[in-house]
Amino acid sequence: MNDKTRQLLLEQVDADKDELLSFLSDFVRAKSPNPPGDTRDAAAHVRARLEAEGIDVRTIDPRPEFPNLVASFEGPAAGKHLVLNGHIDVFPVLDSETWRYGPWTGELAEGKLWGRGACDMKCGTTCSVFTFIYLHRLRDQLKGRLTLTAVSDEETFGPWGARYLMEHHPEVHGDCCLNAEPSSPLTIRFAEKGPLWLRFTVRTNGGHAAYTHTSESATKIGAQLVADLETLTDLDTPAPGNVGPLITRHSEDTNRALGEGAADIVQKLTVNIGTFNGGVKVNMIPSECVIEADIRFPIGVEQSTVMERIGEILQAYPQVSMEELLFNPPNWCSPEHEMMDILKSNVEALRGFRPAPVSSLGGTDARLWRYRDIPAFVYGPYPSGMGSANEHVDVEDFFHVLRTHLLSAYDYLSG
Ligand SMILES: [Zn+2]
Repeated sequence: MNDKTRQLLLEQVDADKDELLSFLSDFVRAKSPNPPGDTRDAAAHVRARLEAEGIDVRTIDPRPEFPNLVASFEGPAAGKHLVLNGHIDVFPVLDSETWRYGPWTGELAEGKLWGRGACDMKCGTTCSVFTFIYLHRLRDQLKGRLTLTAVSDEETFGPWGARYLMEHHPEVHGDCCLNAEPSSPLTIRFAEKGPLWLRFTVRTNGGHAAYTHTSESATKIGAQLVADLETLTDLDTPAPGNVGPLITRHSEDTNRALGEGAADIVQKLTVNIGTFNGGVKVNMIPSECVIEADIRFPIGVEQSTVMERIGEILQAYPQVSMEELLFNPPNWCSPEHEMMDILKSNVEALRGFRPAPVSSLGGTDARLWRYRDIPAFVYGPYPSGMGSANEHVDVEDFFHVLRTHLLSAYDYLSG
């Protein structure tokens, strides 16, 4: 690793601050809410910047409204293959949200850049794009290969983005993946919990509200079922391998990054009842109640273990049928991988602290690499207003994440 080159890379970021901010601002302005998920404008913005640099960009779009961009180059010497991954689509904006600067303005104010996607994750994808651009300029000095994947269809766990690439284009697998989804500069994620979505339908005869002796109530049964599902959170779910002590050691950092209480649920099952619908009229006994639950699995927990417990619960509810809507298994890679050390050392050099290795509560495309036993690490900005009004990213955090990814990718490809 050449200190002079590292210094030059940092100077490059400093010299380009205005361009970087205007790229990110225009990226936010190029609306790409998913659903519905048309990301063509935002993808064109990324593509144009890469092409201006003389980089060949492939568009892989099994569904034309969900284009994925892939670019790759090889250094002159043999080495490892690093993949940078970020998504182009963003959460939709709800009519009920009140925005200080408007959701699609990319406004720069108060030291922050505002708008839907500012932190999730157009900031992070911009960091990947410019890490790729700056290292492409240095490609004669690097070993191995660097690949950029800017994908669509992440926000709904959809099939047309990174999932499609991983299944049909093994050239994007690589030896290690780096992703800048919102996390927090204080933590590096090497693991994430996995969601199981279940729909329960309660059916009874129903009837007139005055004649409660004639039928069970679907909503009352539903309410009891919800209370029983909550007992899943008491299941014993120890972390695999030597990860348990690591998670415990960094609980303070987890709370600081994700809010007080986060450390308590990192290694526990959680149950969220996202929807509960039943009944037609106040003076009728409901004949149907439909409940959707989002159950998050900590790492090391098998689906069969949880399904068995749910099966036991349902034995008391002959009126209930269940349907599985989605399952993404929890996943992790070794927190002792060299990329972890590289990231920690670079953050320490830049900011004076070593970020903590943690497991993520939410899901990212990084899981798709981990499912294939390819280590994948997430280091990104704070999730400020993620998925709600006034989403933003702190400008200094944006530059910090870019510097960290840039130096870390350089170290990985020159070490
Ligand atoms: Zn995201």
